Amino acid sequence: MKTVRQLLFGLLCVVLLTGCEIQKEQSGQETWSREVFAMDTYMKLTVYGANAENAVDAAILEIQRLENLLSAADPESEVSVLNREKKGVLSEESTYLWEKSWEVYLETQGKFDVTIYPVMKAWGFVGEEFHIPEEGLLNQLTNEVNASLVEWNKENSEISLPDRVELDFGAIAKGYTGARLAEQLKKQGIKSALLNLGGNIQLVGNKPDDSPFRIGVKDPDGTAEYLCVLSVADTAVVTSGDYERYFEQDGVRYHHIIDPDTGYPADKGLRSVTIVCRDGTLADAYSTALFVMGTEEAIRFWESHSKQFDAVLYTEDGRLLVTEGLQDLLATALDYEVLRVKE
Ligand code: AMP
Ligand code: MG
Repeated sequence: MKTVRQLLFGLLCVVLLTGCEIQKEQSGQETWSREVFAMDTYMKLTVYGANAENAVDAAILEIQRLENLLSAADPESEVSVLNREKKGVLSEESTYLWEKSWEVYLETQGKFDVTIYPVMKAWGFVGEEFHIPEEGLLNQLTNEVNASLVEWNKENSEISLPDRVELDFGAIAKGYTGARLAEQLKKQGIKSALLNLGGNIQLVGNKPDDSPFRIGVKDPDGTAEYLCVLSVADTAVVTSGDYERYFEQDGVRYHHIIDPDTGYPADKGLRSVTIVCRDGTLADAYSTALFVMGTEEAIRFWESHSKQFDAVLYTEDGRLLVTEGLQDLLATALDYEVLRVKE
């Protein structure tokens, strides 16, 4: 039985729905929406159709289960135990994430590197005691930010980390969670859902009226409501931006997406990267990786992976770049350039 408070909260979430990333949703169908704080962010799950309420409840349990497994900040999680003990046998899900992370590490030439955790701690992004680390310390730490130092046995999932190496799935865990939830909802017969995992959007199917969802890509400065709105369905839409987690000192912004080569916040001309990809885990990994690459390298990377994903890049000098697959799915009042694969 739900308490009156829970029912009122549920009702409030449904009412708030139109203010967020989804726009002008009108549905004759049962709609259930709940907010939850997990994985260090506010999440909002909206599910349409019969059995929506049970499906949302089950999804929240699943989020909590995955947070307990994957959060490096939770001392009891599998990844924290590994970071302390340096040796272990990974569960099936952590195996999947490690192997995905390794693939993306290789194809991005180390721009995406889940051994970044000691650097995140040095900046105080773990525990929110922000400060600028000494350059000497960052040099020392970045020598050991290197996924190839991890010993991995594919046969039995045994992993071992050298002394000062620690893993952090923060750049991929929410995308994976979205992908898992979409799978779970589909198994429960849900045909339509919008899962907003703190800027990581995972969609199940179309809206209940069979039209695509309309997902706004945030303006990093908040000047315009959105940079653009994408009409998309049954996919993940994941954004990495310098405005998501940061602190400021002496007028400089220090954000949470770190260039593994320098140990400093990535600073290669991008304010935000949005990836549209059917594989939510990959969408999350690529949004972080392309942000680190910077504009020119990100464009080249997309050109060689254009069948796998589309992207919206927003640069420091205010250019909005949109890959060709999104051209017909995009609405914006801003000028934009379409990126095409060169023949
Ligand atoms: P996202 O918001 O998905 O771009 O992920 C940012 C989070 O990923 C940070 O809070 C760190 O936990 C982690 N991270 C930061 N820089 C990197 C990097 N270069 N490679 C992999 N993970 C990173
Ligand atoms: Mg990411």
